[in-house]
Amino acid sequence: MSLGKDLDKAKVNMAEGPGSPPAPPDVMIQVKDLAYIYGKGHPGETTGLAGVSLEIRRGEYVAVAGPNGSGKSTLARHFNALLLPSGGQVLVDGLDTSLPENVWEIRRRVGMVFQNPDNQIVSTLVEEDVAFGAENLGVPPPEVRERVEEALALTGLTGFRQHAPHLLSGGQKQRLALAGVLAMRPSCLVLDEPGAMLDPAGRRELLETLQRLNRTRGVTVIHITQLMEDAARAGRIIVMSAGKIALDGTPAEVFARAGQIEELGLDLPAPAEINRGLKRRGFIMPGVPLTASDLVQMIKMINKHT
Ligand code: ADP
Ligand code: MG
Repeated sequence: MSLGKDLDKAKVNMAEGPGSPPAPPDVMIQVKDLAYIYGKGHPGETTGLAGVSLEIRRGEYVAVAGPNGSGKSTLARHFNALLLPSGGQVLVDGLDTSLPENVWEIRRRVGMVFQNPDNQIVSTLVEEDVAFGAENLGVPPPEVRERVEEALALTGLTGFRQHAPHLLSGGQKQRLALAGVLAMRPSCLVLDEPGAMLDPAGRRELLETLQRLNRTRGVTVIHITQLMEDAARAGRIIVMSAGKIALDGTPAEVFARAGQIEELGLDLPAPAEINRGLKRRGFIMPGVPLTASDLVQMIKMINKHT
């Protein structure tokens, strides 16, 4: 273990190069002026990202929102070196994603879950499916079994270990994909619209699992979603537009910019939308409610004042 740490330090130093200050240890992901162009140099080249800088701290729960084509997936794919910058730099735990020798370690630390759970199933048995990624990392079999147990428990799939993955519901399949990633024990999870193919109940289950992992295990969560209602559950929301960051702040800060969110074609969560309607009608609202119960509290306060 200590050898691994020394190796990591060596890589960190290499990644930084001479002269650049070391990344603070609590920074999970550092993106510096990142640009990405699809089909660079070919006719019809497309800008995916046009100068993105951000820092994600260890243990944060960040939602990345934005309309279709705004660069959310392009950004996410840079977080575990599936895409490499056309310009700028991405550091994961201080490791530069553009150095081939760092890629394996980066993929071990940052787990990805994609939109379609069907594309992520690799086995005919739930427990084998969960074990797959950890086995490929070379984790010894007894430890794989331990990790599979834990991942099944964390995702509420223990009772399904002997089931066939393709017979699970959409929400269960997505939790299975998550379990496979968790068995690799990543310090950071990146989920690219994981709820897009799920019904509301499946989405809620998944969100609850993510929040539990973040709170109890300190796993850094980067949740890409077009649903502002889901984004409202994060500690921070980054809104993308045309390959750039349009807004970055707490949910209350972001939803206070209702006009800008509407211009981007995104919906406000229902409580924030109702809040906006009340403000338009002359009510002085004490803040931006993120949940229905926040809204109820605020309305009670208004009643008392009038
Ligand atoms: P989002 O995930 O927010 O919908 P993307 O990151 O997929 O946005 O896309 C950002 C931009 O890059 C869009 O203009 C999109 O058309 C373009 N793009 C995405 N993937 C590809 C690709 N494989 N080839 C060419 N252009 C792409
Ligand atoms: Mg996308």
